[in-house]
Amino acid sequence: MRSCDSASAMARPIPRLAPVTMATLVAKSSSIRGENATAAPGESTDANGGDALSIVRKDFAQYFPLLKIAIITGGSRGLGKSMSLHLAGKGHDVVLTYNSKKVEADAVVVQIEKMGRKAVALQLDVANHKSFKVFAENVKNTLRDNWQRNDFDFLVNNAGIGIHASFMETTEEQFDQLMNIHLKGTFFLTQKLLPLMKDGGRIVNLSSGLARFSLPGYAAYAAMKGGIEVLTRYMAKELGARRITVNAVAPGAIETDFGGGAVRDNKQINDFIASQTALGRVGLPDDIGGAVASLLSDDSGWINGQRVEVSGGVSL
Ligand code: NAP
Repeated sequence: MRSCDSASAMARPIPRLAPVTMATLVAKSSSIRGENATAAPGESTDANGGDALSIVRKDFAQYFPLLKIAIITGGSRGLGKSMSLHLAGKGHDVVLTYNSKKVEADAVVVQIEKMGRKAVALQLDVANHKSFKVFAENVKNTLRDNWQRNDFDFLVNNAGIGIHASFMETTEEQFDQLMNIHLKGTFFLTQKLLPLMKDGGRIVNLSSGLARFSLPGYAAYAAMKGGIEVLTRYMAKELGARRITVNAVAPGAIETDFGGGAVRDNKQINDFIASQTALGRVGLPDDIGGAVASLLSDDSGWINGQRVEVSGGVSL
């Protein structure tokens, strides 16, 4: 009988739906308000216009369910900033976090808003694990107040620092700092945010090329990133029941403020890394931002539990 039903369903003419455009959504919101609103999405000309646009946003989300909300830790600078901008470029909204550099974070929010998308910057110290419960509450309120939603779609555990010290010289304090930020932070922040993540959501954890090859001076840092790669596989295994994918992205050396900006500012280091890279240069933030946005796209939904190195082919 099932095949009969589907055969008759296939024989039925497909109803023609009116195309949904921004103009129709704006017109719809105007009619709801009984006004002749003409503002484009992202433009808020006055208090009334802002209201009308929030109705448009809700309608937009209804008609275009692909719109997603991403939480990017460390979205104020470097790789996290690029990820935030790339995701906004793909039509998504962003909650980005910063540790101390609020001005930089606010500037990213403004940039995203200029792209016609919505973003909010929240303070978070990923080494302060006791604060995660309050942070999760903060995220919940942010989602409700800004998106009228109680869940989000993507989490990128990106925030982090680098410490250069040989194995023999690394102190216990340095080891603990790296552990608290990278491994323990990723572990327990994700644990606290998972109740707010939509089933079918996506997680990306930042690893490093240094977890695959060994460069003197990064024993403790690379050990944390190695731990993140193992954790990624375990998370993927356990969260599969909720259709959540978890992958690790391992960048090669990228020109950011990371490690005091050495890769960007020290010509000798820059030249050396370029010489070890198949594509003949060091990485730029957009090399990673674009890759993470691709990994979070619908086309990459079957990639799960993997380590994806994004390095231009370093130390092959
Ligand atoms: P970056 O330019 O120095 O930016 C670091 C970001 O992390 C900033 O947004 C910063 O916030 C935030 N952050 C730092 N410590 C934090 C803490 N305790 N709590 C919360 N946020 C904190 O570094 P990046 O190059 O973008 O690195 C991002 C990630 O990529 C890191 O996990 C790093 O290990 C990894 N990675 C980088 C490279 C590279 O060569 N750049 C290579 C491989 C892997 P504020 O702006 O408020 O300080």
